[in-house]
Amino acid sequence: MKKHSILKANKQYSETYKEASIDKYSKTRIAILTCMDARLDPLKICGLELGNAYIIRNAGARLTEDAIRSFLLSYKLLDTKEWYIIQHTDCGLTRMNNKEIDDLFELKEDDNKLNWMSFTNHKRTLIDDLEQLRNYPLVPIQIPIHAMIFDSKTGDLELVASL
Ligand SMILES: [Zn+2]
Repeated sequence: MKKHSILKANKQYSETYKEASIDKYSKTRIAILTCMDARLDPLKICGLELGNAYIIRNAGARLTEDAIRSFLLSYKLLDTKEWYIIQHTDCGLTRMNNKEIDDLFELKEDDNKLNWMSFTNHKRTLIDDLEQLRNYPLVPIQIPIHAMIFDSKTGDLELVASL
């Protein structure tokens, strides 16, 4: 994208902008953590429309501290009643391990390192993240939490576990 082409595109968008009238309190009261992968449209995948859900995104749909923060705030400030973690097949974070990502950045032994949270086993990782979220002290017991995998080839969503 050329410099400022986003601003140019936005000019057209703002001319027909109607989303300001959408209620910020989603009627469906759903929060979804999913991957930042550019191919994923979480609303469409779940049959939802703009204004129906709060979407939390990061690399790999991993349960980071910030994802927990967002889930908790979606509950306390926006009254969400159901939470989802949706990973997807062919995720970039399954193609390299943490050490290989460190190497991409040419990190040395003593450098400060991030936990890139790469993983190999989708179901195991999803269930670990689901359990960690379920057991987090501030998470209300009445909120059902579901872990799912989206098949990037077929478009199917598979329920892995609910807690
Ligand atoms: Zn991904």
